[in-house]
Amino acid sequence: MIGVSKNPGPSAWNDLLPERKALPSLEGNLTSDWLIVGAGFAGLSAAHRIQKEAPNDSIIILDAQGLASGPAGRNSGFMIDLPHDLASDDYGGQLQNDRKTINQNRYAISFAKEAVESLKLPKECFKEIGKINGAATSKGMRHNNDYAKHLSKLGEKHEKLDAHLMRNITGTNYYKGGLFTPGTVMIQPALYIRALGEKMLSNRVRLYESSPVEELHNVGSDWQAKTPNGLVTASKVILAVNGNIENFGYFNNSLLHIYTYGSITQRLTSEEIKILGGKKEWGITPADPLGTTVRRVCGVGGDRIVIRNRFTYEPNKDPKQSTIDNVFRSHVKSFSDRFPMLKDKKLEKTWGGHLTLSRNNVAAFGELKPGLFSACCQNGLGTVKGTLHGLAAADLAMGKETSLVKQLLNSPPPKKLPFKPLTKVVVSSRIKLGEFLARKEL
Ligand SMILES: Cc1cc2nc3c(=O)[nH]c(=O)nc-3n(C[C@H](O)[C@H](O)[C@H](O)COP(=O)(O)OP(=O)(O)OC[C@H]3O[C@@H](n4cnc5c(N)ncnc54)[C@H](O)[C@@H]3O)c2cc1C
Repeated sequence: MIGVSKNPGPSAWNDLLPERKALPSLEGNLTSDWLIVGAGFAGLSAAHRIQKEAPNDSIIILDAQGLASGPAGRNSGFMIDLPHDLASDDYGGQLQNDRKTINQNRYAISFAKEAVESLKLPKECFKEIGKINGAATSKGMRHNNDYAKHLSKLGEKHEKLDAHLMRNITGTNYYKGGLFTPGTVMIQPALYIRALGEKMLSNRVRLYESSPVEELHNVGSDWQAKTPNGLVTASKVILAVNGNIENFGYFNNSLLHIYTYGSITQRLTSEEIKILGGKKEWGITPADPLGTTVRRVCGVGGDRIVIRNRFTYEPNKDPKQSTIDNVFRSHVKSFSDRFPMLKDKKLEKTWGGHLTLSRNNVAAFGELKPGLFSACCQNGLGTVKGTLHGLAAADLAMGKETSLVKQLLNSPPPKKLPFKPLTKVVVSSRIKLGEFLARKEL
C-alpha cells in the first residue's frame, strides 16, 4: 500500500484563514481523461495548464490531505526568481546556466501571476514586493557582496542596504546589511493553494480531499488509482507528490527526504507594532543557506512574524516529537535574538514540512511509463520549481514539446544515493556542520 509522508504540527498559514468547508473525499468509481495525484504547486499548476489547453478534457485531482495542509501550505512563501548561489569563483561557465534558471523561475512566477489574475485569487496571496538577503555577520556581508557582483554581471537589478536601512525596514538592529532583489514574490502559501484549488473547479475539474491513492495499476492502456473508498480510471496520470513518488515505486534510493520548520508569533498588538517600527511587510532570506528565514506579514491573520530554520534528514518521512521540541527552542532563540523589543511575544505555532532533494539538484521528471508522468523533486524550492515541473509535465503529457520540456528531459535523472546508513551519517553531519558554521545567521 502506498503511504504518505507526515507533516508535523499545525498547518499554521491555513489556520490564519477563515474556516472553509472541506471538499468531499472520493466515493465510488469514476472515469476521467486525466488524474492528477497531489494538490500542491505541481499538481494544481498541471491541472490549470490542462484546463486551459484542453478545456473539454475532464480532470480529477486527488490529495491525501486537505488543501494546503501539506508542504504547499506550510512553506515560507518565497517565490524566488534568482538562483540561490551565484558565488562560484569559476563564474564564466555558470553565466548561461544562471540565466537559464532565472528564465525558468520567472516563467513559473509569471504563470502564478496569470493564474492569480485570471482566476481572481485574493490579492493577499501574491505580493510582488521582492526580498532581502540579510547578513548578520561579516561572512554574510562578504557573501552578499559576491552575490551582488554576480548579479551585476548578469545585468540583474539589486540594491545594497546598510545596517541603518535594514533597521528602517525590519525594526531590528540584528543585521549588518542586506541585498534587496525585486523579483521575488511573497505568497501567503495556504491562501494561494486554497484559492487556486477551489477556483479552478468546474464540472470538468474535480478535486477530492482526504483521498490518498493507495494503489496505482495500469489496466490495458488506462491507469486505475484506488483510494480507501473509490477508484479512478484515467488514460493519463500525473504524479505530483514530491518525495512520495518513491512510495509509488519510482526513483527509489535517489531522493533525500529533508524536513524544515516554521514558527509564527502571536498577533502583534498596535503597541508592539509601534515599538518594533519598520515596514508592515518584508521577507528576509539568510546570507548563509542554513540560516534563518524571517518574514513580517499583515493581512487576514493580523500582523505577525514568521521564522523558518533548521533542517533534519528524515528517511522515514516522520520526524519525532523530540525533534519538533528541539526546533521550537531554536526558533525561540532566533526570534528573541532578533526581536528583543518583543520579549513578551510568544511563538504561537510551530510546524514542519517534508521537502525533497536530489544529490545532483535535478527534478524527478518525465514519462515513467506510457501515460504516467512525474512532476516531482523540487529541491526545496517548490513554490517555483513545483509550479514549473507541474506545467512541464502537463505539456509533455499533452504532447507539447516546449523548450522547457526539452530542457527538463535533457537533464540527467536524480543520482543514486550511497547505501542508507552512509547517506544518513553524511547528510545529518553536513546539516549539523552547516548549522554550526551558520552561527549568527541561524
Ligand atoms: C517550513 C517550510 C518552508 C519552506 N519555504 C519555502 C519557500 O519559501 N520557498 C519555496 O520555494 N519552497 C519552500 N519550501 C518547500 C516547498 O514547500 C515544497 O518544495 C513544495 O511544497 C513542493 O511542492 P509540490 O507540489 O511538489 O509538493 P507538495 O507541496 O509536497 O504537494 C504534494 C501533495 O501530494 C499529496 N500526496 C502525496 N502522496 C499522495 C498519495 N499517495 N495520494 C494522494 N495525494 C498524495 C500530499 O498530500 C501533498 O499535498 C518550504 C517548505 C517548508 C516545509
